[in-house]
Amino acid sequence: MKKYSFLAIACVIMLALFSACKSGADHRALIITGQNNHNWKVTTPIFKVLLEQTGIFSVDVAVSPDKGGDMNKFTPKFSNYEVIVLNYSGDSWSEKTKSEFIEFVKNGGGVVVVHAADNSFPDWPAYSEMIGLGWGRTEKDGPFVYFKGDKMVIDTTAGPSGGHGERQEFTVRTRNTQHPITKGLPPRWMHGKDELYSKLRGPAKNMEILATAFAPPGKGGTGRDEPILIVTNYGKGRIFHTVLGHGDVDGGPAIQCAGFIVTLQRGTEWAATGQVTQKVPYDFPTAAGTSLRVNYQEMTLEDDLIKIGGYDITKSTKYFVDLQSRIRAEGTTPEKRQQFEHFMIELLENKAATDEGKKLILRELSWMGSDLSIPVITKLLQNPALKDDAKFALARLQPTK
Ligand code: ZN
Repeated sequence: MKKYSFLAIACVIMLALFSACKSGADHRALIITGQNNHNWKVTTPIFKVLLEQTGIFSVDVAVSPDKGGDMNKFTPKFSNYEVIVLNYSGDSWSEKTKSEFIEFVKNGGGVVVVHAADNSFPDWPAYSEMIGLGWGRTEKDGPFVYFKGDKMVIDTTAGPSGGHGERQEFTVRTRNTQHPITKGLPPRWMHGKDELYSKLRGPAKNMEILATAFAPPGKGGTGRDEPILIVTNYGKGRIFHTVLGHGDVDGGPAIQCAGFIVTLQRGTEWAATGQVTQKVPYDFPTAAGTSLRVNYQEMTLEDDLIKIGGYDITKSTKYFVDLQSRIRAEGTTPEKRQQFEHFMIELLENKAATDEGKKLILRELSWMGSDLSIPVITKLLQNPALKDDAKFALARLQPTK
């Protein structure tokens, strides 16, 4: 008994030390919500977890009165925070709250605008300036802004702003690979099924579009490269605006997308501090396919191998590409490579895994495998669907035979 309680205490101390070492959670973020034409009760706790899992934020939530309620009662203490994350589209705030928000941003406070938050406050010019572009604006607020090819277009045509075609997966194109938020991201990556916001307009002052996506006319789109990630400056404040993140009842692919998650985490850090210290994780999507996180956690090697085990040649090669880049990045010692090899051998032995998945693994083992793989590959010579790939792998693993 004594031994166990000692162990328990040791564990608690270790955990405390670990959190102290991590020590990063020293940036304070406030999520504002309470009204939204999306299910904010589902998305808000998810956003909170996503920001906290960076280890650098402590996150509070301020919930406004319901629609039609007394907004004079909504008085968040902005100045207690470094960054305000807006998961809000709804009634106007009181004049007092609005002017405190303006002061906060002018003095260097950060703001993050997520998805429908850019529908908010069309009659509040300072807010339109902060978000750069939004829905519900007209020519009196500023031009439409989008890309055509490599050029940004400022379009002063009259008309209302905001819209989207049918929900779809789409390729996000990184336009600036040197900005702290987008540095190290692939030039093109597939986003999980989401609304592709289009026809945004606004003051577009002190604004840069960091990423765009083409809205295909065949799916109700504009045929333009629409802004996806936007940064602006307002006074000393930094604003990060992501149009991504349409939340379904259960979250859904738009916010499970590692691309949405990582840009939200990085954008929030940049808005708070002007820098980004977070690494781009290996499961960030590429042009090869989307990368959706189960339970909003970064994918592990095991998750990847499960996906490869169910590999379907007609679908994405994303998980295999991930495995390869992971082996190249992390397999720097013989021990580490052997660990990868063990995982792959298990997959070859797994009866539930598809032949197509096993073929990919055989190809990978043919160059990075060792004697360890030879018995299991030899067995696969008996499998008519895999014997050619097995023979090829063996020939490369045993060149002298
Ligand atoms: Zn939406």
